[in-house]
Amino acid sequence: MARPPKERRVEYIPEIKYFKPAGIPMRDIEEVNLTIEEVEAIRLKDREGLTQEECAQRMNVSRPTFQRVLTGAREKIAEALIKGKAIRFRGGDYKLAEHYLHCSRCGRKFAVVQGRRGRHGRPFREIICPDCANQ
Ligand SMILES: [Zn+2]
Repeated sequence: MARPPKERRVEYIPEIKYFKPAGIPMRDIEEVNLTIEEVEAIRLKDREGLTQEECAQRMNVSRPTFQRVLTGAREKIAEALIKGKAIRFRGGDYKLAEHYLHCSRCGRKFAVVQGRRGRHGRPFREIICPDCANQ
């Protein structure tokens, strides 16, 4: 019996989800699709510069799995750049990580999701305590 695929832990959902080459009509553009966990793999390894081991831990997967996700993502990006394809970020099998903050005033612990914005467009570091409204 096949095991259900394990959800990869993702800390960040990009706000921009589509890139297209300039000067080419949409009808002539082919797309590659990166999953959200592939974008996360690129972010951790190539933007944050973590080791593969650290990346695998952050995403809650084995190192070989991380390597596979990363390689797949890089191949798709390379194909888009070389062949002039659009890149779409969509789908995948992931769980958005929650971060816990402690309110410095009332001590309440509350979950926030990184990369999302609060109700008034504030990034999460400025999110207000739900209990006492302390920032
Ligand atoms: Zn509070």
